Amino acid sequence: ARREAQAMAGEAAVTRDVVSLEVAANVADTTEAERARELGADGIGLLRSEFLFMARDSAPSLEEQREVYQAAVDAMADRPVIIRTLDIGADKALSYLPLAPVANPALGVRGVRLIDAYGALLDEQLRALLAVEAPERLRIMVPMVTDVTDLQAVRQRLQALADEAGINRLPQLGAMIEVPAAALCADALAEQADFLSIGTNDLTQYALAMDREEASLAGRADVLHPAVLRLIAMTVEAARRRRCWVGVCGAAAGDPLAWAALAALGVDELSVEPMRVADIKAALRKLDLAALAKELPGWLMLDDGAAVRRALGEWLANNN
Ligand code: PEP
Ligand code: MG
Repeated sequence: ARREAQAMAGEAAVTRDVVSLEVAANVADTTEAERARELGADGIGLLRSEFLFMARDSAPSLEEQREVYQAAVDAMADRPVIIRTLDIGADKALSYLPLAPVANPALGVRGVRLIDAYGALLDEQLRALLAVEAPERLRIMVPMVTDVTDLQAVRQRLQALADEAGINRLPQLGAMIEVPAAALCADALAEQADFLSIGTNDLTQYALAMDREEASLAGRADVLHPAVLRLIAMTVEAARRRRCWVGVCGAAAGDPLAWAALAALGVDELSVEPMRVADIKAALRKLDLAALAKELPGWLMLDDGAAVRRALGEWLANNN
């Protein structure tokens, strides 16, 4: 079965009831992007650009960045590539951008909230992204969006930089949905964004108020908790109503059970670790999506993540 999954990895994932889903890859550098293509990924759903900026004494130049972004886009041939703008703050620090220590970094100035503090860095990154050839396949994604104001601020900068450089073909600009406020107001975001991608790692942490690094809470901090699933369902429904593409780029997309719930909630894409692409595609091909979707409303009424995990596990065991 494993062999067959590998052989089919490059083919589209179509469920038993004939729904196509994109299965993309989360990557942290260009080598991984190349590997993702070989492993059959339908695109890159998340390139975490932090690797270019961390563990060094000064920011990468525009040209260095452009080369890396171009290489990622080239590695994917004709497929879409989502590059996330710099997501630092919280636990990720840069020596050349000192931020004052704060009591609650996860609730502090991180991701796009740094727009004023790291404006020059962000502008340089946006310039490098605008310089990529094949902008129709490049998508820029903004981390830690709370509301439309965050997205508008980045769009304004992107537009101003494009005007300055005389560029009229802009890449798509999308928002990560990883703050509960963004999920609750997803209709407004879906209206303004070119696409949405759900970051289940942070969304779970913030919805349940459970630190994602806290080992003693790991058993309860489950993306399958009905509270988290309801936020995801709201996001997908809002996106559908506005015909806005919505993917998932958090770890849940490759989770042994959660991928199925996310697919049944109606996302367009699951972005997973490159090594998981073939298996997730093979699993999707065996799934009757509509039958699973019928079970979901009942599971959203269960007590906790463990209960949903049990119900979903049993359903998959009996129906696949
Ligand atoms: C997430 O929060 O789910 C996510 C994909 O981003 P990161 O894990 O880099 O915070
Ligand atoms: Mg995140």
